[in-house]
Amino acid sequence: MRIAMIGSGYVGLVSGACFSDFGHEVACIDKDEAKVAALKRGELPIYEPGLEGLVAENVRQKRLSFGTDLRSAVRQADAVFIAVGTPTRRGDGEADLSYVYQAAREIAEELSGFTVVVTKSTVPVGTGDEVERIIRAARPDARVAVVSNPEFLREGAAIDDFKRPDRIVVGTDDPEAIAVMRELYRPLSLNQPPLLVMGRRTAELTKYAANAFLATKITFINEIADLCEKVGADVQDVARGMGLDNRIGSKFLHAGPGFGGSCFPKDTLALCKTARQHDAPIRIVETVVSVNEERKRAMAGKVATACGGSVRGKRVALLGLTFKPNTDDMRDAPSIPLIAELQAGGALVRAFDPQGMDSARQILTGIDYADDPYACAVGADALVIVTEWDMFRALDLNRIRDAMAAPVVVDLRNVYRPAEMRHRGFVYLSVGQFDGGIAPVPRDPVRASDARPRPNSSVTARGPEKALVPQP
Ligand code: NAD
Repeated sequence: MRIAMIGSGYVGLVSGACFSDFGHEVACIDKDEAKVAALKRGELPIYEPGLEGLVAENVRQKRLSFGTDLRSAVRQADAVFIAVGTPTRRGDGEADLSYVYQAAREIAEELSGFTVVVTKSTVPVGTGDEVERIIRAARPDARVAVVSNPEFLREGAAIDDFKRPDRIVVGTDDPEAIAVMRELYRPLSLNQPPLLVMGRRTAELTKYAANAFLATKITFINEIADLCEKVGADVQDVARGMGLDNRIGSKFLHAGPGFGGSCFPKDTLALCKTARQHDAPIRIVETVVSVNEERKRAMAGKVATACGGSVRGKRVALLGLTFKPNTDDMRDAPSIPLIAELQAGGALVRAFDPQGMDSARQILTGIDYADDPYACAVGADALVIVTEWDMFRALDLNRIRDAMAAPVVVDLRNVYRPAEMRHRGFVYLSVGQFDGGIAPVPRDPVRASDARPRPNSSVTARGPEKALVPQP
């Protein structure tokens, strides 16, 4: 089948490359000329594991091409996918649908023969109706079906997610369109993922409900983590104890600095807006949004605690900037408010990220970048693990400790074990682990807290640890 993919970002490029790998002929269109020029030179504008090889191979097989002009691509297509961005609209939290509607107008001009126009972008309920209205108003003669086919891939594992999805959601009641959609996804039938056909509005809402639920799960475990810190429990064990229950499942139960990224923040906001507009507020998601916002800012407080109450004048080294590992995507990353708060508190920030520093340079100011984690740690008063890239999981901790001005680690992803870190001479603060706090568990929280050592001085920090375990 012939596909025109309008928008060649994270979703459009991955979807286009995967569809072409299935054997379809795909033209990926983007209005960003620099992006298309790079793609034509064989350079990927984004980092996504495995994508470079997949794109190169399908370009070589002449099944995948790139361009800025959608005209001929749309004219020849059996299916035109809209995979443009739907960011938060400035000021009101609603999804900005201007890119989707603009694409619909451009597509309408070029339709010829029966064409399925598929919205892959995440769009609020009713957007498909408006896309159809735009197209029919411009081209009353066109034979067209407008379908919702939300995408569930995750950056960092996008190819595998696209090729081995848990399910495919198709929102339409048009039999001809259903046949086209089945044919497009037929190569997946070996893995037998369910292809769920439902109403268009239902499909649109399914995507938001799924993302809001996952964001809620993360926020739930984050609040349990806060309680763990207060009562002397370990959130890692709580999460495991919960997650092994099949009714709950272990995914998205990792406590951390709050969710970020290109989807959850904007999609939870947009869902809340839609719900309010229809007088059916989803209060649980509204709470998730506000708890998560507060949490992202509160992480700087954790760093300040580890530094003895203030970061003023402290050199803080950040490992990881992207919102999660295996992507270069900085959109709404928790590192952004963390850095803003640290800088506002008077800290000097240096950072290292394996893939995110180019994007970070465009949005963050006043920070130093290091070439690797060890260079990042040199002279630091605190080191903060912000994103759990694999390369941060097995650091040479002795080298890190010896490079730092004070051996203080704030691990916002619980990558390391509190006991081990202490034995290595670190003041170590993690998330949801009292044991990972800087003081021993008090018997009487009130009196014991009075007697707690201040963690900021490296003498205090190293002193008792050294006494416990000799430095290697
Ligand atoms: P993106 O910003 O990476 O890519 C969007 C692309 O569309 C840009 O390159 C932009 O130049 C292009 N574009 C905009 N208007 C255009 C037009 N009229 N013609 C041609 N190109 C146009 O965004 P993304 O991360 O790929 O997300 C796209 C959609 O998919 C969003 O609605 C998002 O919510 C949804 N989604 C994203 C993910 C993800 O992990 N990124 C996962 C599932 C769903």
